[in-house]
Amino acid sequence: MLVNGAVVAGKGGSAVNRRSSEEVDQIRVLLRARFEELDAEYEEAVAQSHRLRLVEIGDSAGDDQADSGSKTAERDAAGSLLRTLLDRRTQAEYAMQRLEDGTYGNCEGCSNPIPVERLEVFPSATTCVNCKQVRERRAS
Ligand SMILES: [Zn+2]
Repeated sequence: MLVNGAVVAGKGGSAVNRRSSEEVDQIRVLLRARFEELDAEYEEAVAQSHRLRLVEIGDSAGDDQADSGSKTAERDAAGSLLRTLLDRRTQAEYAMQRLEDGTYGNCEGCSNPIPVERLEVFPSATTCVNCKQVRERRAS
């Protein structure tokens, strides 16, 4: 709270680029919820892939080629799902770290804080809506 008081009292240019502590709290809750959601999905996927493996060990004796082929495909799909979930979980974890560092959610274009409403929909957004539109106009 002292830090915020100092920023307001300063009225300097840096105050413009600062997010309020209420907003930081709001984003923290948001990111944590997302992390826990992904964490649960990941655990579920891990359990699922264990079940696939157990089933395979259980009845592999009578397998013909086609059977073991489809099981391999199933296992590959489970494996890539695991990697995707782990990836997204890691991203959410990094986002929480960046939030604590004060580097999360600042626009890459104008370096102003990205509005919470936007981060709520796109937690991985790196630009504000204005800068995104400018970029898209340049790209097209
Ligand atoms: Zn911007």
